[in-house]
Amino acid sequence: MKSYFKSKKLSDSLTRIYGATGECMYLVTGKERALLVDTGTGIGDLKAYVETLTDKPLTVAMTHGHVDHVQGASQFEEYYLNQKDRFLLSRDSSSALRVGYARFMAIPARNPELEKINIDGFQPKADPEKGIDLKDGTVFALGDITAEFHALPGHTPGSMTVLFPEDRILLTGDACCGVTLLSFMYCTSIEEYREALLALKAKLEGRYDRIVVSHGGHEFTNELFDSVIECCDEISARTDEKIPMTDLDGRPSLCAHAMDFIHGRKDGKPGNIVYSEKNIYR
Ligand SMILES: [Zn+2]
Ligand SMILES: [Zn+2]
Repeated sequence: MKSYFKSKKLSDSLTRIYGATGECMYLVTGKERALLVDTGTGIGDLKAYVETLTDKPLTVAMTHGHVDHVQGASQFEEYYLNQKDRFLLSRDSSSALRVGYARFMAIPARNPELEKINIDGFQPKADPEKGIDLKDGTVFALGDITAEFHALPGHTPGSMTVLFPEDRILLTGDACCGVTLLSFMYCTSIEEYREALLALKAKLEGRYDRIVVSHGGHEFTNELFDSVIECCDEISARTDEKIPMTDLDGRPSLCAHAMDFIHGRKDGKPGNIVYSEKNIYR
């Protein structure tokens, strides 16, 4: 099987792994153990690739239950996932959806081979029975370094962020990013998401200087949180730009500010939200 993976070291212990559709996974390697955060779409042999980067015993944990984060999970004995996202494993595991997502991403990921991919190019779907509940506040000790999981519901009910305190890096996954998708039918309201963002920001205040995400490989400063909170305020006041679009589930939605998917927001601010007009208030 062809290797689709590339990687980039962000610190002595943290490596970003790029998957076939441009999704980013993170490998953190301590003196005694390693932790893989997310397993991508299941295209290619991720396990073999990770084994070229570390020989430490491996724990696998997910930021959330979406198809581009968990469907490489079948290569591993077990994995951690917040139980509130368990419903997504079966909801999103059809071959049509997995292949459709990869083909949809062929152009943005600059990977034209994906336009012809079929289900034979994927690992088997993730087995919900191998999932262990990943609770808010879980800390994985890897020897000299740790990884802390902190809930940030919104994008999905069970979305988690991961703090690497020794590197002062926070991974927000898809839960808070340059285009935070909050338009799916199971997303929390903008009002509830704003409260969760404020709570997480207060809880982790002063513990990180860099924010990394799951798509695009961009890095952000702490300003990302304030920018996304400002979007929530504008959406609630109906003063955002309200750009009409269709989300990945085919639902009509609005983008708070004009953007393109390569360069981000046209006004240069870091955060943005795609949302449903019917799910602003709780
Ligand atoms: Zn997602
Ligand atoms: Zn994603």
